[in-house]
Amino acid sequence: MSSHLVRVDNLKVYYEKKTGLLSLGKKYIKAVDGVSFYINKGEVLGLVGESGSGKTTVGKALAGIIEPTSGHIYIEDKDLYALKGEEQRRMRMKIQIIFQNPFSSLDPRMRIKDIIVEPLKIMGAKDVDYETIAKELIEKVGLSIHHLNRYPHQFSGGQRQRIAIARALSTNPDLIIADEPTSALDVSIQAQILNLMWDLQKELNLSYLFISHDMGVIRYISNRIAVMYAGKLVEVGDTKTVLESPLHPYTQSLLKAVPIPDPKKARRERIVVGEPPDPANPPSGCRFHPRCPYKMDICGEDEPKEIRVNSGHRITCFLYQEK
Ligand code: SF4
Repeated sequence: MSSHLVRVDNLKVYYEKKTGLLSLGKKYIKAVDGVSFYINKGEVLGLVGESGSGKTTVGKALAGIIEPTSGHIYIEDKDLYALKGEEQRRMRMKIQIIFQNPFSSLDPRMRIKDIIVEPLKIMGAKDVDYETIAKELIEKVGLSIHHLNRYPHQFSGGQRQRIAIARALSTNPDLIIADEPTSALDVSIQAQILNLMWDLQKELNLSYLFISHDMGVIRYISNRIAVMYAGKLVEVGDTKTVLESPLHPYTQSLLKAVPIPDPKKARRERIVVGEPPDPANPPSGCRFHPRCPYKMDICGEDEPKEIRVNSGHRITCFLYQEK
C-alpha cells in the first residue's frame, strides 16, 4: 500500500473543440495531457502556472467535477472513478474544493448555516447534528454564531471566503483543493485568508492542492511545488529546491516575476516572453519551445521525457537529459 493520500497517474482531460459545419474530423483541446503526481497526508502541494495551463482542470478532476478522459486518481489507493455507490460517496466526502470567487460560489438565497452544512446534506450524511456542526465551523474560521442566520450579500469578500472554507471543512475532508482562493480578494485580506488556511492545515493535518498563478502565494504555503505549462507538468520538487535551484526555463521565468520585498530592489519582470500556446493546437515537441531562451533544434521535434534529477525533483526538459 502506498503512503500517499492522493496519487494521480497519467491524467488526461480533453474537450472536443466546436468546429464549423464543413470541418472534417474532431479536434480536441488537451487541457490536461498526461499529468502524474502525488500528495502525502498533511502536505501542501502548490500547483502553479499561467492562466490556461490546465491547473484548474486538474483540481476539478480531483474534486469529481470533471470526469477525466483517461488516467487514474487514487485516494488512499482506491481508484476514485472506479468506485460505486456508498464507497464512492464516502471517498468523495474526503475531498472538498474552495473556489476562486466567493461572490459566485455561495448561493445568495441560502442562509449561512445551510450553506456550511450543504456538502454533508448532498452526500447524504445520516445522524448528523447540522446546527452544532455549523456553529463549530463558523467559529473555527474566525466568524461568530450570530452570522449563521445571515445571507451571503451581508458579508465582505474575505468573510465569504471564510464561509466557503467552513463549508469545505463540513465533511471532515482529508484533501482540500484550493483554486486561487485569495486572488479575487483585496491584497490586505489575502494574507488573512492565507494565514487561516495555514493554521487550519496544521491544526487538522489537512492536505491541500493549492492552485495559483502567483509564485509568491505558492511559496508561502506549499511543502512541494508542481509547475504546469500547457497541460503538462514541467517541474516538481520540494519548495526549497524549486525556489532556490529552479531547473526548468519556465520555472525560472515565473520566479523572475516574483517581487522582491525591498523597495530599493523592487522589480517585476515580464513573466515569460510571448503568449501561452493554444491548447487546441499546442506546439510540437516541447510545448515551451517557442518561448524558451535555451531552445535547441531537438526541442521543436521531440517531446522531452520526465527525468528525476535527485530525490523527488523531477524535470521535463532536454537540457537535463543525457545526450
Ligand atoms: Fe527549453 Fe528545450 Fe527545455 Fe523545452 S526542452 S524547456 S525548449 S530547453
